[in-house]
Amino acid sequence: MGKGDSQVPELDAEASRGGTDEDWAETKKEYIQALTDMACGMTADPIQSASWHTMQAHCMKKQISDYILNPQWKSNLPRLYVLLLRCAEYCVKIMKHQGYSSCSKYHKESVKHLCEQALTRAPEVKAALHKHLDSRRDEASREPEDDLDCAPSAPPMEGDGSPLQSLEASRHVRFRSGDALEEWHRPLIRTAIASTCPDLNAARLKPIHVPQRVLDGFMAGAQENTLRSIETCALLGAVEADSGFQITAVIFPKQIGKSDYCEARGEEEMLMEVMKRDLIIVGWIHTHPSQSAFLSAVDLHMQCSYQLSLPEAIAIVMAPSKQPNMGIFNLTDAGLAEVRNCREAGFHPHSKQSFTVCQHATISPSGTVEIVDLRNA
Ligand SMILES: [Zn+2]
Ligand SMILES: [Zn+2]
Repeated sequence: MGKGDSQVPELDAEASRGGTDEDWAETKKEYIQALTDMACGMTADPIQSASWHTMQAHCMKKQISDYILNPQWKSNLPRLYVLLLRCAEYCVKIMKHQGYSSCSKYHKESVKHLCEQALTRAPEVKAALHKHLDSRRDEASREPEDDLDCAPSAPPMEGDGSPLQSLEASRHVRFRSGDALEEWHRPLIRTAIASTCPDLNAARLKPIHVPQRVLDGFMAGAQENTLRSIETCALLGAVEADSGFQITAVIFPKQIGKSDYCEARGEEEMLMEVMKRDLIIVGWIHTHPSQSAFLSAVDLHMQCSYQLSLPEAIAIVMAPSKQPNMGIFNLTDAGLAEVRNCREAGFHPHSKQSFTVCQHATISPSGTVEIVDLRNA
């Protein structure tokens, strides 16, 4: 029996419906397993260079340190734990990438170091998560008894008995509505469920704020190419706040463009710019000078690698000769599964449902944006 035993008899009526320490340990185990399952499956898609993946891994590192430095970091423990596991797996995959051997020594060392850090941190955060859950359970059990009368009755335990369902059920059983733990717990449960249910996908993503200046600044920088019917691309750099990601920089990398194609070059240089500004890359923007706004097969594969390293990542397509003249897209969960398992290159068919108009990005009239142009640097 654990050290919180003395508190157990004081748990409310709801909790006594199966609220033994063994059940509690099992609930926590399932809960952490659900987080681990969410984290699994990172890849370092060969469509992107090893240096590009290094840049994305650096952005993950930035997110991780933001969570750790945030005074409210305990409320981010589940997300932090998932991020650390994803980061460790991602680094391992980067080290297996075919282009890894030709990366600079600096990049190799930073990936190795990041991997070690993530692997060291993950068990620490897992332990903190256990402790935090236990202390909140103890707090819940100490609350005055008359509150119990106001507690809503627990829903019956039914369903298919899957871990997610029992997780959801145990939440109702053990914690009354309005309980701090329930408040704390809810986003995670929703996240865990959303990861298996595409319709709820938007609910688990943090919003992305796109200042109008991102679109205007990008189109001004692309104008020369657009007039010649050549595609242009740029990266979207953002800072993360509790309210979501705010795009603060548009970075034009060195690139090679054609009428239906654009490829970035010089990732090491891009990484330096991203690091200098402490940015997180939240997606990319490119033009379709003579086509409508959609994601081609090549775009889908590109977007897939962005979205695997950051689920919130978006693709903005500017189509100045068509109406509508722009679109903000992301892959659906089904699209992500389809594209990540596709080994074809170039233009090839993909199902129409593989991408959708993004629900978590909004364009705002205000917001300062730095335009960084490395094309002639
Ligand atoms: Zn395109
Ligand atoms: Zn494909």
